[in-house]
Amino acid sequence: MYLVGAGPGDPGLMTRRSLELIERADAILYDRLVPPGALEGARPNAELRYVGKEPGAPALSQEETNELLVELGRAGKRVVRLKGGDPFVFGRGGEEAEALAAAGVAFEVVPGVTAGVAAPAYAGIPVTHRELASAVAFVTGHEDPGKAGSALDWDALARFPGTLVFYMGIRNLSLIAERLSAAGRGPEEPVAVVERGTRPDQRTVVDTLTGIAARVEGEGIRAPAITVVGPVAGLWETIGWLERRPLHGEVVAVTRARAQASGLASRLRELGAEVIEAPAIRIEPRPFEGELRAAIERIGDYALICVTSPNGVRLLFDAMAAAGLDARALAGATVAAIGPGTASALKECGIAADIVPERFVAEALVEALEPVAVGGRRVLVARAAGARDVLPDALRARGAELDDVALYETVAEPLSDAARAGLERATYVTFTSSSTVRFLLESGARPPAGARVVSIGPVTSATAAEHGLTVDVEAQRHDIDGLVDALIADARRRSVAA
Ligand code: SAH
Repeated sequence: MYLVGAGPGDPGLMTRRSLELIERADAILYDRLVPPGALEGARPNAELRYVGKEPGAPALSQEETNELLVELGRAGKRVVRLKGGDPFVFGRGGEEAEALAAAGVAFEVVPGVTAGVAAPAYAGIPVTHRELASAVAFVTGHEDPGKAGSALDWDALARFPGTLVFYMGIRNLSLIAERLSAAGRGPEEPVAVVERGTRPDQRTVVDTLTGIAARVEGEGIRAPAITVVGPVAGLWETIGWLERRPLHGEVVAVTRARAQASGLASRLRELGAEVIEAPAIRIEPRPFEGELRAAIERIGDYALICVTSPNGVRLLFDAMAAAGLDARALAGATVAAIGPGTASALKECGIAADIVPERFVAEALVEALEPVAVGGRRVLVARAAGARDVLPDALRARGAELDDVALYETVAEPLSDAARAGLERATYVTFTSSSTVRFLLESGARPPAGARVVSIGPVTSATAAEHGLTVDVEAQRHDIDGLVDALIADARRRSVAA
């Protein structure tokens, strides 16, 4: 039995131990505030059970949860009790541990990053500070409706020589502020409220003890939120960082194949965006037979080999391996890559491309190949089925003895319900190829009204236009970096205009 903290919301703040235990668990009992994707690593046959409480409507009483834990623990199952933040900070983990101890069930406690420290940190508020706060108190702002008076000693809190961090305090914020000032805390003292801290849609408002409740109400701030009372709250203005990231508040949909999405997705996340992974396509390798097999088995005969995508490189080397060959088979050939991404995939396979055009389109590769003698020579173009014929046509016209071989096909990937729902909230929808446009629209999904459509280059933009989409942003450099740069520039322009 493991009482495990899952951190405040950013999946990157889950501990290594928590991920390890989730991977091995027979059963996971989780709460509402665990980070998105926290359960992704669970075994497919693990029992996942929600035991959280919706405000006002308990799914399972605390007693029932305790009993369930004891029962599962006694059955000898490997159980993870997963809680938001830290299990022992306002998480009732103490009570659960007591129940387990009383029943003689062995357990381990895995601390988590608690919201009361992490949400302020992501808002640029250090809860202690050499000059501003030598102590910090974690306080519940949740007034138990069943209790006659307050469980809190407001005089002591007001006198506390340091930062006060309130959990669960949003509904009672005006009461908290009143009590603190009535008990002598300065009316001008800075107070920060951090909503959905460490998540991509985090919001922070800062005001005085007197003004904060009205501000929070006016801005529509809701739970979960952390309230920080003390001079440190004012540091948000100078060292707040998350909410200043260029894509903070944007919801960006990535439609490229899942296997390729992660690089783009993690760059966008680091820039502050919430990323919706909505892969519209999938790469399906062609079987190693027929034309493909014939070409690969004699790959040493080609004078020039052209590859047109990182996927193509990976699958070319897979096919070579199937033929019992490796990079040495390319020793005699000139190797051309369509762009820098393809060139770096080649590099990983031990091949430094001889030719890499600056612009990442077939026309640019045709131009870059002009100095290469191809007349009467054997040339291989290894690429996706159904790609445009610009490159093979040009090489044939120059007298090359050309083999145009398909390594893979791009096929539709069905959109999950989560991806579909996420897409509805997108503020940007990115398209990194014509096939992402075509297959997304064929699946019945569409960029929502008001979302900005971003295209990697003119070919993709033309496909979008054919399908009735208006492209708002087109990358100047037709690769992922170029697309990200264009997106940032657009977001900046719009936030200046707003
Ligand atoms: N055990 C948790 C706290 C659970 S109590 C922890 O250590 O963080 C629930 C309260 O935690 C919420 O009402 C809110 O005050 C706070 N909280 C949890 N996640 C939060 C988040 N991402 N941002 C702001 N506050 C959060």
